[in-house]
Amino acid sequence: MPKIEANSVNYNSIIGSDFKNVASSRKGPRHHSPLIISIAASLIGVIIVSVVLAHSNQSTLAKVNLSNTAVNSTAKEIPLAQKTVADRIENQVIWIAEKPTALSVATFAAEELALAAEEIQAMPVVTPLEEVTRVTIEVKKGDTLSSIFSELDIHTELTRLLNLGKDAKPFKKIYPGQKLHFLFGASGLNTIELEKSITKSLFLYRNDESFIVEEAHRELNKISQVATGTINNSLFLAGQNAGMSDGLIMDLAGIFGWDIDFALDIRKGDNFTVLYEELYLEGEKVRDGNIISAEFINNGRQYRAFRYTDSHEKTEYYSPDGKSMRKPFLRTPVNLARISSYFNLRRKHPILNKIRAHKGVDYAASTGTPIMASGDGKVVHRGKKGGYGNTVILRHGNTYTTLYAHMSKYAKSTGVGSSVRQAQIIGYIGSSGLATGPHLHYEFRVNGVHRNPLKVKLPSAKPLPDSEMDRFQASIQPLVVQLDAYTQNALVMRDL
Ligand SMILES: [Zn+2]
Repeated sequence: MPKIEANSVNYNSIIGSDFKNVASSRKGPRHHSPLIISIAASLIGVIIVSVVLAHSNQSTLAKVNLSNTAVNSTAKEIPLAQKTVADRIENQVIWIAEKPTALSVATFAAEELALAAEEIQAMPVVTPLEEVTRVTIEVKKGDTLSSIFSELDIHTELTRLLNLGKDAKPFKKIYPGQKLHFLFGASGLNTIELEKSITKSLFLYRNDESFIVEEAHRELNKISQVATGTINNSLFLAGQNAGMSDGLIMDLAGIFGWDIDFALDIRKGDNFTVLYEELYLEGEKVRDGNIISAEFINNGRQYRAFRYTDSHEKTEYYSPDGKSMRKPFLRTPVNLARISSYFNLRRKHPILNKIRAHKGVDYAASTGTPIMASGDGKVVHRGKKGGYGNTVILRHGNTYTTLYAHMSKYAKSTGVGSSVRQAQIIGYIGSSGLATGPHLHYEFRVNGVHRNPLKVKLPSAKPLPDSEMDRFQASIQPLVVQLDAYTQNALVMRDL
């Protein structure tokens, strides 16, 4: 009995590609030799194995006669008419791949067994080879859609693609690193897949003189993770020691950044516990997901934050009592700066050399570093202001004003009277006015009185409305239990 191996068989070459021949050949009784039936059984095995492979690992499918659509688990009905290449067997395979239940595979196997055996008898010994070839192009710098289509010698298809109008838009914005898959059958280009992201693909199925466009999504699996660490030097080092990615450390700093100044307030022995998601695709980690809850102990004081999506689909981090972690004011209106001068009512001025109250905080950074609005507000002054140089003053409601001096230039759309959002860029660091070097001079006034921006008690965010509290408490309860367990455990580990 001949041994048939999955890799060496091209079943189309034996079965043939013309379904009509098969159909007409079914009339009348037939004798099925055991040999042919066993070959057919092996072939069906190959097909089923291929389908399973297609689901488990797309990249192993170099020359398996399957349309790429079979791999795309969420793609809906694919009109059979557009399958210019596929013969009937292939269509069956695709159908199974879309609904891969054990039952359907088994039913298919039984029905096709008899049919395939008949086909083998009906076909001439030599039939033209028909295969679907898959070509993957990774976009390189300088590539254009036109250059790629020319390279593949399918320039006429480009016109059809561009005729799709707005559906073709994502194809016009390809960028280096992105992948395009082309499937070719006997009659030419069959399917184009553009990987828009790791979870999103855009499929173009060839249909007469045009394409049918379909977007498909792959779901990422979320797996909960926990990281815990104690700070010796910096949050960054402690986070890295705890196995956290840089992005995750930044997220953690971002959540607590309104309460804790990570440049000034951090003490040796501060510690943190973070519950977060890791996102997986087909068993491989893709990236970190969201922080679900976290605890930070700063100088003996406990801060906790929980991610919560309210009944209006708005997601934020909240303290256990339902107050947003996000405060109406940023403590520091500039990132990547160091404090070069503190709030001091009896400071000797570095240029004037006289005792002159320093009613703000200076942040030194290179010229051009962006300056952010520390809170939502309205621009009430923008222009030169004596020794302050180029200055912006914001009003935040009736109680608060903030001032930003020595700017090198202003940001667009921040003229007097315009509204700005918290963290919106309002200008750039410079040394205009009386300044020894590029820095931001920042002032914070409460009811017109200068206050130390680093010490002033910032107003807290509005808590969740009463109507939301029960839902919030119910939602965070399991996270509180989890966090308690992990922090207890971490405490025990530290004391050992
Ligand atoms: Zn200053």
